[in-house]
Amino acid sequence: MKKIYMLCVCALLALVACYTVPETGRSSFNVLPESMLSEQAASAFSGMKKEQKVSTNPKEIARVKRIGTRVLNAVGPKGNLPPPENWEFVVFDDDETINAFAMPGGKVGVYTGLMNLATTDDELAAVIGHEIAHVSARHGNERMSQAVTVAALGVGVGYAVKDKSKETQQAVMIAYGLGAQFGALLPYSRLHESESDEIGLHYMARAGYDPRAAVQFWEKMKKKGGGKEPPEFLTTHPANDTRIQQLRELLPKVMPEYEKNRVN
Ligand SMILES: [Zn+2]
Repeated sequence: MKKIYMLCVCALLALVACYTVPETGRSSFNVLPESMLSEQAASAFSGMKKEQKVSTNPKEIARVKRIGTRVLNAVGPKGNLPPPENWEFVVFDDDETINAFAMPGGKVGVYTGLMNLATTDDELAAVIGHEIAHVSARHGNERMSQAVTVAALGVGVGYAVKDKSKETQQAVMIAYGLGAQFGALLPYSRLHESESDEIGLHYMARAGYDPRAAVQFWEKMKKKGGGKEPPEFLTTHPANDTRIQQLRELLPKVMPEYEKNRVN
């Protein structure tokens, strides 16, 4: 049984497919079929819509859809986006949650807490551009691909120490788990966040939204957080200061795109 499992895992990894991330050109590690992730995400998203309070405020809904559609239309064919009919933008009614998320296949959720903070359309476009970027960069796939690989290697590590004492086995597996968490998974998430910031800036600028609003928005987030951030190495997100700094450095690259596409 174990042998068959290992064979399957090896076969899967042998098929290692790399995906070229739009805009940045990075080769990402994608071993899972995107269609499978889209299906799983769609069902998880319907679950969320049942469990959480979905906004019925027509103004809020229209605002997110209008900005979302405008940014989607500006992405261009290189974005490799899921087809337009797959996309769904949902406002979750929760003023305490200053957050937004995107799932493979094009499911985007925005909380009213975030919408209240992103007061201008340019600021909200920065957030939505970032979320659309997670989808076009297939970050969900890369995270899952990595988790599957880490689990498979974990089985291998377990097998290698199977004749050792229980204590040794436990110690090795804990060390392996911690190594995987801090050595691989966390930095990956930070890479994904920075990468989505960069791609999102291109998308919003191309849609005619002012990319400087991304810096403004993260400065607001920083103020809101009251400087009580956990140390960067423990979190999945880049610290606000790092993020703001990186966004500022990217502005000269994306401002011409904005100037070309701005509407007023
Ligand atoms: Zn993100």
